[in-house]
Amino acid sequence: MITQMAYREAKQRAADLLGQTGVSLTQDELAQIAVADFGLGDLEKVGAQILTLLDSPEIAAKLIVLFPWQVLPEHRHPPLGSYPGKAEALRCEFGTVYLYVEGVPTPGIQVPDCTPTTARHEVILTPGQQATLAPNTFHWFRAGAHGAVIWSFSSRATDVADVFTDPVVRRDTVVGE
Ligand code: ZN
Repeated sequence: MITQMAYREAKQRAADLLGQTGVSLTQDELAQIAVADFGLGDLEKVGAQILTLLDSPEIAAKLIVLFPWQVLPEHRHPPLGSYPGKAEALRCEFGTVYLYVEGVPTPGIQVPDCTPTTARHEVILTPGQQATLAPNTFHWFRAGAHGAVIWSFSSRATDVADVFTDPVVRRDTVVGE
């Protein structure tokens, strides 16, 4: 759970970071930024600020804003019926993104102490670099020292079905007093 004030502050910080990118966004869009603490109640360490720009039955486009060193917890996008699961491309717009995917472990990486992870193959993205994630494969990522703004282009988003490694994670953010 996070407080209403923390939610509002996170939203404003995310809007400020987006403002530094030069990406054109309307005030109406900026008002739609959603803050996710993933139920862990430690937004500074684990969470994401997400602006959904397009969410159709076929495709989705989002901007994900991370504060400095903030971790988006490990998850996969599972198959649903005949749908193989969301395929996603992440493209760094601002800052540095430390992305971790399945595969050969990268030596010397720093894993978070606040949420469990299993993917250990590191891909570092700086502005203009992107990586593609196959459906149903585990991934998590973290911003560098200046935070990060990341484009997510994907097939149909099925966020509520996402499978998180951390059993404590809840996809819905509860906002308290
Ligand atoms: Zn994902």
